[in-house]
Amino acid sequence: MFKKIRFQMIAVIAIVSIVIFGVLNIAIENKLNELRVHERNFYGEITRARADELSKELQGHLNKVHMIAHTDFLESMDVEAILPYLSSLLNHSDFKGMTIALPDGRAWTTYGASIDIREQEQFTNIFVRNKLYSISNPFFSPYFYENVPIITLSYAIQRESTTIGLLNAVLTTTFMETIISDIHFDSYGYAWIVDGNGRIVAHPDPEININEDYTDVIKEIDVQPFSSSQGFFNYLGYNNEKMLAVYSPIHNTNDWKLVISVQESQAFSQLNAVMTYINWAVILSLLSLISFSFIYANSLTKPIIKLTEVFARAEKGDLSVVADSKVQNELGVAGQGFNRMLNEIKNLTFVDPVTQVANYRSYLLDAQRLTLEHPDKQYYVIVLSIDDFKKINSMGGYGFGNETLKQFAELLNSSLYAYELVARYFGDEMILFLHAENEEVIRLRIQRLLAMTQRPFKIMDIEIHLSLSCGFACHDKLHEIETTIHNATLAKLKAKKLGGNLAVFYEDGIQQEIKKEQDIESELFKAIEKKELYPVYQPIVNLNTMEISGFETLLRWNHPTFYQESIQTIITIAENNSQIIEIGRYILNEAILELKRLNQKNPDLVLALNVSALQLKDTHFITFLKNRIKVIGVKPENLCIELTESTAMDDVEVKLMDLHQIKAIGCKIAIDDFGTGYSSLAYLSRFPIDHIKIDKSFVHKMMNDEPTRQLVSSMITLAHNLKLLVVAEGVETQEQIDLLKHFGCDMIQGYVISKPKRMEEHNI
Ligand code: C2E
Ligand code: CA
Ligand code: CA
Repeated sequence: MFKKIRFQMIAVIAIVSIVIFGVLNIAIENKLNELRVHERNFYGEITRARADELSKELQGHLNKVHMIAHTDFLESMDVEAILPYLSSLLNHSDFKGMTIALPDGRAWTTYGASIDIREQEQFTNIFVRNKLYSISNPFFSPYFYENVPIITLSYAIQRESTTIGLLNAVLTTTFMETIISDIHFDSYGYAWIVDGNGRIVAHPDPEININEDYTDVIKEIDVQPFSSSQGFFNYLGYNNEKMLAVYSPIHNTNDWKLVISVQESQAFSQLNAVMTYINWAVILSLLSLISFSFIYANSLTKPIIKLTEVFARAEKGDLSVVADSKVQNELGVAGQGFNRMLNEIKNLTFVDPVTQVANYRSYLLDAQRLTLEHPDKQYYVIVLSIDDFKKINSMGGYGFGNETLKQFAELLNSSLYAYELVARYFGDEMILFLHAENEEVIRLRIQRLLAMTQRPFKIMDIEIHLSLSCGFACHDKLHEIETTIHNATLAKLKAKKLGGNLAVFYEDGIQQEIKKEQDIESELFKAIEKKELYPVYQPIVNLNTMEISGFETLLRWNHPTFYQESIQTIITIAENNSQIIEIGRYILNEAILELKRLNQKNPDLVLALNVSALQLKDTHFITFLKNRIKVIGVKPENLCIELTESTAMDDVEVKLMDLHQIKAIGCKIAIDDFGTGYSSLAYLSRFPIDHIKIDKSFVHKMMNDEPTRQLVSSMITLAHNLKLLVVAEGVETQEQIDLLKHFGCDMIQGYVISKPKRMEEHNI
């Protein structure tokens, strides 16, 4: 729109300028025309003055002839006496000769000739037309050998108003030539004389013959020249120059006119110079007006246009635009305001308010930009998640959690090189965009990062250690950045599943792995409803009596595809999404129902039940357990709760309370997978436990490995010292039975006795 305005402004100014120029030009032209008239008048004055001069001169000569003609002596018309008188007069005058004539045409000259003048002009004028005088056109006379044209001045000789004779005086045209050759204007102007018939009377150019037509001088003319007694006209001369002719009458002649011819260009040269000067001045001022208006229009509209362009780009979502704020006017102020507003929007749009680093939206845009700007660089997407962030939040509330995230983000930010990014992904997850030559280098950088974050952070005077699950993926430029982010996220998920505090590089298999896990997860949700989950039982045998003392309850999933999947994997998935709580309750209920049936046959049989850490954390677990035992009606001491060593030893004080609550119900407690974790003896002695279950890996290994054998022996001795019974798991051979018996182990469980089976398959 402002482009249009700018164009319109410039167009209007240009049009106005041209109009002004036109009007000015017309005004100047008018003024100049006036000046031209003045100039022409000036030549007119000269012409008139000179024509008058000529008239006077001629009049003078004519007067002389008049005076002579009116003397009594001449009125006598005594030719014989008059001729010598006239000859004597010649010596004192300009006349070259005189002639006296009678009305019959006979004439006598001072140079002694008798002639007949009836054919001559003056005869007609004076005797026929009864004029008082007659002046001839110049002509060459055969009687005068000087090669100059002559004119004749004739006067009537009258007696009592009757013409009785004629006096004629011959005059050379020298006097006229003197006058006209006196009138010159350098080389561009001259004077000449023309008679009433347009024949040349005198001309300074010897080439031009007298008595010729004026067309010898004038090549082209579009008006009838000499149409009035005085005036001017323009014509084209024989040298093709434009001429101005100004003419004025010479009185007492045969309608002679003195003409002054001047070259127009020269005549008006000064005026033309002024005109040119004025034209240039006007053109230059117009040009400067137009350029000034262009610059002004530009200076006015350009910032507006720029500003609107910036607005338009910002509207399309390009928040990297900056408005020109340096313009020294209101537009500059508008630009500043816009930039401030944009910064604010950018902050709101692109900066994560908690960590003060970029947000994910900004990350996406910048990562795409960096990929384009640095095609030579190999980029990697790294997703970092703080392990157990909920715990950090629960330590000191959300403020504490946020402060942790902020410091974590600062640390990541400080580790960046040029053209790298850090952003908050979501929740406790941060995302990096790093470049490195190869996978090796990026692995090293990530390891360093993980090491750095393990150093203590001081958050609100509390020191905490962060552990990270990190997934990273190589960014293939041919793929969308989102694809790489997705891959890195899958890798991070795997790192989480593997227990955290780990960096996992995305490989093609991960996709399938994760997919499978997701399938398992969604299938597992339907499993209880579909009654696909069921318990199996594996007997636990007393080593002394070799009689079944009880069973361990183990979960099985009758699923068309996932039935072969290890139940440990399924339990881990269920633990990750908390499904284990519901599954655990289901199995617990089934197991207690089974225990009821078992005890009806043999009231001493004990049923062991695996309880995972997550189940234990469930605040309703104890109530549920208590309720089931009571409602179904079993002896609590016939139920043994198995907790893995790592479950028991994590957050000992809390676990101690849980265990006491279980103990308070009357259930037995076993520490499962004993030997794989790091049990502190001190805690072990404080725990209200009944059994330890030696992990099957020791049982398997002890046959061929002396130290393991020693270890198993020590574990049994230690347990007995603490008044605990020992169960050996995974016993598969008679040799193992024998050795365990030798070590004094109390009970065994394993394939050597029976695989886990449905209760109805056991012969009980
Ligand atoms: P666990 O509690 O240590 O269970 C013993 C595992 O050893 C069982 O594997 C059992 O089938 C296997 N086993 C028994 N005898 C032998 C043997 O002679 N040789 C070998 N190689 N293995 C033997 P399973 O049933 O696959 O269970 C794996 C783990 O899954 C269990 O380890 C337990 O931690 C967990 N689990 C199973 N059922 C449940 C459940 O209902 N709730 C919870 N929370 N965890 C369960
Ligand atoms: Ca177990
Ligand atoms: Ca075990």
